[in-house]
Amino acid sequence: MTLPSSSKIIIIGGGIVGCSTAYHLAQMGKEVLLLEKAALTSGSTWHAAGLVGQLRSSANITQLLGYSISLYDRLEEETGLATGWKMNGGLRLACNEERWTEVKRQATTAHSFGLDMQLLSAKEAQDLWPLMDIGDVVGAAFLPTDGQASPSDITQALARGARSNGAQLVEQTPVTEILLEKGKLAGVRTPTGDLACEKLVLCCGQWTRDLAASIGITVPLVSVEHQYMVTEAFDVPSNLPTLRDPDRLTYYKEEVGGLIMGGYEPNPIPWAVNGLPEPFDFQLLDSDFDHFEQIMELSLPRVPALERVGIKQLINGPESFTPDGNFILGEAPEMENVFIGAGFNAFGIASGGGAGMALAEWVAKGEAPFDLWPVDIRRFGRPHSDTDWVRTRTLEAYGKHYTMAWPAEEHDSGRPCRRSPLYDRLKEAGAVFGEKLGWERPNWFAEPGEDGHDIYTFQRPNWHGPVGREHKAAREAAALFDQTSFAKFILKGPDAEAALSWVAANRVDRPVGAITYTQMLNDRGGIECDLTCVRTALDEYYIVTGTGFATHDFDWIRRNIPEGMNAQLVDVTSSFSVLSLFGPKAREVLQKVTRSDLSNEAFPFGQARQIGIAGCPVRALRITYVGELGWELHLPTEYAQTVYDALHEAGRPLGLRNAGYRAIETLRLEKGYRAWGSDIGPDHTPDEAGLGWAVKLKSGVAFRGREAIAKQRETGVAKLLATFVADGDVILSGRETIYRDGERCGWLSSGGYGHTIGKSIGIGYVRNEGGVTKDYVLSGSYELEVAAERVKAEITLSPLYDPTMEKIKG
Ligand SMILES: Cc1cc2nc3c(=O)[nH]c(=O)nc-3n(C[C@H](O)[C@H](O)[C@H](O)COP(=O)(O)OP(=O)(O)OC[C@H]3O[C@@H](n4cnc5c(N)ncnc54)[C@H](O)[C@@H]3O)c2cc1C
Repeated sequence: MTLPSSSKIIIIGGGIVGCSTAYHLAQMGKEVLLLEKAALTSGSTWHAAGLVGQLRSSANITQLLGYSISLYDRLEEETGLATGWKMNGGLRLACNEERWTEVKRQATTAHSFGLDMQLLSAKEAQDLWPLMDIGDVVGAAFLPTDGQASPSDITQALARGARSNGAQLVEQTPVTEILLEKGKLAGVRTPTGDLACEKLVLCCGQWTRDLAASIGITVPLVSVEHQYMVTEAFDVPSNLPTLRDPDRLTYYKEEVGGLIMGGYEPNPIPWAVNGLPEPFDFQLLDSDFDHFEQIMELSLPRVPALERVGIKQLINGPESFTPDGNFILGEAPEMENVFIGAGFNAFGIASGGGAGMALAEWVAKGEAPFDLWPVDIRRFGRPHSDTDWVRTRTLEAYGKHYTMAWPAEEHDSGRPCRRSPLYDRLKEAGAVFGEKLGWERPNWFAEPGEDGHDIYTFQRPNWHGPVGREHKAAREAAALFDQTSFAKFILKGPDAEAALSWVAANRVDRPVGAITYTQMLNDRGGIECDLTCVRTALDEYYIVTGTGFATHDFDWIRRNIPEGMNAQLVDVTSSFSVLSLFGPKAREVLQKVTRSDLSNEAFPFGQARQIGIAGCPVRALRITYVGELGWELHLPTEYAQTVYDALHEAGRPLGLRNAGYRAIETLRLEKGYRAWGSDIGPDHTPDEAGLGWAVKLKSGVAFRGREAIAKQRETGVAKLLATFVADGDVILSGRETIYRDGERCGWLSSGGYGHTIGKSIGIGYVRNEGGVTKDYVLSGSYELEVAAERVKAEITLSPLYDPTMEKIKG
């Protein structure tokens, strides 16, 4: 077949993800050409085991996988090609009490997201899966709509569907270079010629990282060996559900009358560390029986028949894995019109259908169709540009695939990576660190004699008491938080005000020194960013956002600066340390170290001032995320230690304590402050989130998302964010189901404990298709499903702890 000289959209890679993306783009009527260097499916797709599970910890990603299932369900009929799809259900076993709690919590998550996940006794599970021994099984969960498919057949069916809607899929055509013109995407080079395109989609599996890197795009994935064995046939019924046995690190699936059994070793083997071999299509790696032995040993007691049946093959296939175990989707922040769909962590068959749909919409519309944050390419940042660091972290994530997913669990590998100048001081003071985007951040502080490690549990953890101590200091005296990891940007230029006014939903056209808390909205009115802007000069803003949102928020703001406006955005994260001083005695402490007038008259709430502390020029921001009087002190990094020491010396007699991120979490839950990524995000509008007060609708100033909000003010909302207080001593960690008058109406987006009120707190949306008002929300009687059991809960739309604004405002 002769290649065209151009196509509006070119997809590179004919695995399941490329074919699914082509299928969905073609269905939208887009001109699309897919180039595959060898044959369709010849990368990782052809040798996948074919289990298709759905449940993830995010509602949208679960729905994405649910979409895969609905697509696979109809694909054979639609295309006339067999897909091997069968909805035989999926079982998950629990072999100890902690795992049973985890499985019950997963069942609750499934219920929250509208999936029927049933809890079974060991015997009931065995009835569904008679081949197994249940001597150690405590219980199981069954998801009837899970299933399995033939990976190659599904992919070929997607390819046929794409072609029948006009897409061209060309095999034996490698893309050898991505062509740029003046730094912008122009097309691709192949051995048979150059092709121009407007949009390029990289679905090249393991090959994606290097191809993307050739034009400066970071795609943090690495190849890891993954093995499963295929047995001879021994009358295994074809309707046998898939089985996951996480305590034994293994999974199973029926395969032509025999079984497939694979697993996740704690000591995975990286592959192609020094570059991928070429060619490598329809190839496997050598079977590694020695390495698989540990999996086999775990499996035999579960399925004794495996002792007797012959092993047909031990498949060893390489697959791309990522540092957080989730795939990578979206438009590259480094280059407009280049999209990525890669890094599928051995669930690319399960997610291929939904991921292709979401990616196609992203390509077609230039924006994620809905909140895809857990898989969004912009969740990565600086440490991810180093492949060795990525590999280290990825191997840890792989090894933990089936280990218990503890609440608040931290990664251990690749640490410490990014350190605040205060790291050593904080460590000496007992800090127990967590990690975000490579940054070491104090989670909590152990006192002498206390074990300074996280001990994970589904009950109250060992840091519960220490966090309560820090919480109390913030409420009753003062607490100092090192928030150096905050992402910080400067927007500068003659059009800075006009540009930011367009991007921000709240007013930023305010005098120098004013701080604005604002959301940034998409055209649906959804919250893309939630951050603070300080006007530092007539032509300059200092923008502060969460550590994990550095890449995402920078990308959103930069892309939304209207064309032709003269305003430059610069990331200055590494230039400034941040010390947040909060608590009723914060003023007293701070006043001891600065000559600047800190009185409410001289330095009111919502203002930023330049003050001096111990020879250091400090930008002090009078704001709070914990509901107390206080300042965020932003200072050049080289002064951090000096200012930290001065504050502690001044604060010690007043009860000042070091405090960490877990205290911030409990403090903000009591105050009802929302967190982007859990409580608010692109699928939630400010009105739904109770943040409508921060939208400048009345101002007459144009801003992105305005029309959507104006319309919603007329139609009303179908969900409203509320705070819940659970009865009794239950543990809330998010995703618990909310019931209103006995009907499921949502799930908790955040959960935790409020040390001042002494109760478990949740935040979540109350949903009702017919509309939701404050009266509707407050008039219901509520229960929460926690680990599959219902508990009563009180609801409120007000903060649970409100130290009167007088106290905060001083
Ligand atoms: C042993 C094993 C078992 C698995 N079991 C399961 C399972 O049970 N369930 C599940 O959901 N997932 C499973 N997976 C994972 C699944 O196979 C992958 O996630 C999925 O196939 C990834 O699809 P892809 O399209 O991203 O990549 P690939 O299938 O690798 O496709 C990428 C394609 O891009 C092409 N390409 C690369 N570079 C270029 C270039 N420069 N020009 C042109 N073409 C190029 C390659 O030739 C390749 O065909 C398993 C994986 C392994 C290894």
